[in-house]
Amino acid sequence: MCIRDSCGTAQSPKDVTDTIAQAGLAAVRARAFITDSPKVLDNEIAAINQLLCTRCGECLKCPFDALSINENGRVVLDPLICTGCGYCTELCREGAVQIAGFTKSQLKAELEGVLEEGDVLGFVNSGISSLTCDNIGNSVLTYPSSVKLIKVPTCLIVDRDLVLHAFRHGASSVLFVEDPPDSPRAEVIYPLTVSHFEKLKEELGDSGKRIHFKKAYVPNIKGLAGTFTSLAREGEMIK
Ligand code: SF4
Ligand code: SF4
Repeated sequence: MCIRDSCGTAQSPKDVTDTIAQAGLAAVRARAFITDSPKVLDNEIAAINQLLCTRCGECLKCPFDALSINENGRVVLDPLICTGCGYCTELCREGAVQIAGFTKSQLKAELEGVLEEGDVLGFVNSGISSLTCDNIGNSVLTYPSSVKLIKVPTCLIVDRDLVLHAFRHGASSVLFVEDPPDSPRAEVIYPLTVSHFEKLKEELGDSGKRIHFKKAYVPNIKGLAGTFTSLAREGEMIK
């Protein structure tokens, strides 16, 4: 009997790099499980600017039901429920909702600080996707230094204005790097992110050809590094 057959949850034979990467993810999940209780309030959640809010109610489509209307007709957030996914920032046409720590002006300033002409800008989900990027750095794999990465809670907060801002500041392409739908939270967020990306691509017309989407699994560091490298090469050609 081979080792693989004797392990109930084994997936396939893996090389050392993939095995280390997957073990890292298991450790992260175990830590999340152990520290799951008591609930610690996350700082990176939605914040509503009541001065800008027109009370249109669009944001009540929050997929986690974290938003409601109080007795005074104000939109209020339950900070214990909000996951900081950023979907409400897409729904709100007034710019009245932002994610603390990831406001549009903060993200614009961050990309202005890192971008140079011809660079590839990756917006990376701060969960599994970010871990996958870190694992590229920890492995023998590399990718060109013209790939610049910015962490976001999810790519739902990357809107048209932000993408155009990146193009104006020299980005040859913009890549959305998202977590796969392999947790209850990600199962809700992932399809929203895909449709957000497709809508954005259509809205951007010709510039839409310069935005890309990649689902990042921790074991697939080679695939992500390959995507970074091929986009960087395309950027070199149009410099
Ligand atoms: S979508 Fe924006 S403007 Fe409309 S109720 Fe929500 S926060 Fe207010
Ligand atoms: S950030 Fe996500 S979970 Fe929080 S209120 Fe907005 S849509 Fe709901």
